[in-house]
Amino acid sequence: MHAGHIKSLDRADPLQSHREKFELPDGVIYLDGNSLGALPKSVPGRIAEVVNKQWGHSLISSWNKHEWITLPARVGSKIGGLIGAEDNSVVCADSTSVNLFKLLSAAVRLTSDRKIILSDTGNFPNDLYVIQGLIKQLGDNFELRLVEPEEISTALTEDVAVAVITEVDYRTGRRHNMADLTAKSKSTGIKVIWDLCHSADAFPVDLEGCGAELAVGCSYKYLNGGPGAPAFLYVSPELQDNIHPPLSGWMGHSAPFNFDLDYRPAEGVSRNLCGTPGVIAMSALDTALDVWQDVDLQLVQQKSQKLFRLFADLVEELGPKTGLTLKTTFSESERGSQIAFAHPQGYAIMQALIDQGVIGDFRTPDILRFGLTPLYLSFEDIRRAVEILSNIMQSNSWDQPKYHKRGLVT
Ligand SMILES: *Cc1c(COP(=O)(O)O)cnc(C)c1O
Repeated sequence: MHAGHIKSLDRADPLQSHREKFELPDGVIYLDGNSLGALPKSVPGRIAEVVNKQWGHSLISSWNKHEWITLPARVGSKIGGLIGAEDNSVVCADSTSVNLFKLLSAAVRLTSDRKIILSDTGNFPNDLYVIQGLIKQLGDNFELRLVEPEEISTALTEDVAVAVITEVDYRTGRRHNMADLTAKSKSTGIKVIWDLCHSADAFPVDLEGCGAELAVGCSYKYLNGGPGAPAFLYVSPELQDNIHPPLSGWMGHSAPFNFDLDYRPAEGVSRNLCGTPGVIAMSALDTALDVWQDVDLQLVQQKSQKLFRLFADLVEELGPKTGLTLKTTFSESERGSQIAFAHPQGYAIMQALIDQGVIGDFRTPDILRFGLTPLYLSFEDIRRAVEILSNIMQSNSWDQPKYHKRGLVT
């Protein structure tokens, strides 16, 4: 691929000015924004303000004075705007896992005579663990039915109570059709919980347009909220007042400061809040989300597709001797914002890449995964990353003992 072509892609890139909003170390090509988004430069100042001025000076009065108490709703609204949600239908709270547990517990009550929870083998295993935990909690009255991702549509049958579907496969990048699967589920009386962890801010999501009813997702991946940033959950307006929150805490009470002895759920989506929010982390996310204020997600998706094409073409040019097999073999509308290759020595190759400043990650058993985050990646980054990959493969420099040693996190 000619250097001139890559330069012209960067020159014509309408998103290139966003890169300077992020803190990125020199010499690093960061292809892991789908696992932990980069740090927006505006965030450290906000954290310092919340800690020093608000907590340090205003102390407890900050709950009113600095509106800490409305953070879950305000941050939720910002996220809602990015995923095509109706007004007042998203809150920010807890982790994705906890939010999934909450919505799944509520959803199985909405389809009371059915006993099947459906998911697919391309789901992130964590979500399956949460389903399995809830089934135990419910006295093993429910059953998890797992099908292959390609079979999920035909598996939406009338005995299914709830389907838990992660839109984008964390390994291959395959993307389910949210509009079709939602329509089919509704016509069969199934509640679907969409997991948007690899969707939100990776491409335009249209919850309202698809008629989606329930969704969860995290904010530390494409949303750049920071490690372990609080997650979000969505409940469609029609369903909101039918939800019985299983974790019925005071933040979801209709009048928490009345201190009534009985729980009464708040109206709307906020009943899904449970305990006190982590104000520092949620404030960091609040500021991180402002990066997206003037960003057109259609442009983000278009650039992501071009970054993908360049990456795939450059690796293909290296020829079959690399032993790398493209795993993200889906059409543009059927994939998320990542590219994955399989290689039997994937783990060691990824460690060698990271050692040389090309940061992606490894997913068992053999996947090299690279996240494509158009706000802070250039076409030149992709060219350079594949050049380094090529050098590593040609020299076999990955085959050193230090690159075979597994860390706790891969
Ligand atoms: C990243 C991710 C999660 C993470 O859940 P946490 O509760 O934040 O650990 C859950 N589900 C999917 C599909 C993910 O990609």
